[in-house]
Amino acid sequence: MTVSELIRASTEFLKEKNILEPRLSTELLLCHTLGCRRIDLYLQFDKPLLETELARFRESTRRRLRGEPVQYIVGETEFYGRPFHVTPDVLIPRPETELLCETVLEHIGKKFPDAAPVSILDIGTGSGNIPITLLLHAPGLRATGIDVSGKALDVARKNAERHQVADRLRLEKVDILEGDTDSLQTPFDIVVSNPPYVSADDFSDLQVEIRDYEPRVATTDESDGLTFFRAIADRAKHLLRHGGAVMLEIGMGQADAVQEIFTRKGLRPFHRQADLDGIDRILGFTYESKE
Ligand code: GLN
Repeated sequence: MTVSELIRASTEFLKEKNILEPRLSTELLLCHTLGCRRIDLYLQFDKPLLETELARFRESTRRRLRGEPVQYIVGETEFYGRPFHVTPDVLIPRPETELLCETVLEHIGKKFPDAAPVSILDIGTGSGNIPITLLLHAPGLRATGIDVSGKALDVARKNAERHQVADRLRLEKVDILEGDTDSLQTPFDIVVSNPPYVSADDFSDLQVEIRDYEPRVATTDESDGLTFFRAIADRAKHLLRHGGAVMLEIGMGQADAVQEIFTRKGLRPFHRQADLDGIDRILGFTYESKE
């Protein structure tokens, strides 16, 4: 069987089994099997596959059919145009979070021009996709990423090394809900977070790829979905310097509630942005102390 024949057959098969994006899944799994880039598939369309390659491909297809996300099977994903290692210990970075990074970069460009020094804290850093992306685009930036999971921090460290920003990224195991933030080098100019904002009720309705494969602790707060926003708002004044900003990714329908949580703590809303589906997704607040 040749590369092109396999792509056609497998795409058809995954489609019948109602797997999302069957062609893309096929191509990514095949690249993983052959150790090549997607473009290389097109350059070797007529190449016959070895029996061992076919066996490996079939095994990864079986995993995909059981619902495992293709990103975990191949061990990486693309975020903001760059590859990031992912394991089942971290959430798979989403396009909505690219919007958060873009918004933060715009904010940095406006408030801290000419590569002025900026410090940022990412709460719940997972694979480290947010701070690493920001570090790659903002030369004056230094970042700290915290996470409750040591295994997630190992993945973030690997990604920081891969993208050669490890010397500008501190990674620390901190549970923001426990409030043990004394070890952090406060204050920061910006606090950013894409926290586990899915409520316990909504969690059970999620698709199998998320519910059964992505880390539960990175997805839901086991409550109303707002726990982490309350925790961040409670600590914002301790974490931020005067004039600093909190920039957040939020879930569908949470904008007003989150705004209320932060304004009650004395922060001022300055940014609200919808994603491509028209859902309010990014919120920004500033902290202007009275002194
Ligand atoms: N910061 C990571 C991301 O945005 C992980 C977020 C999380 O675990 N909730 O993708």
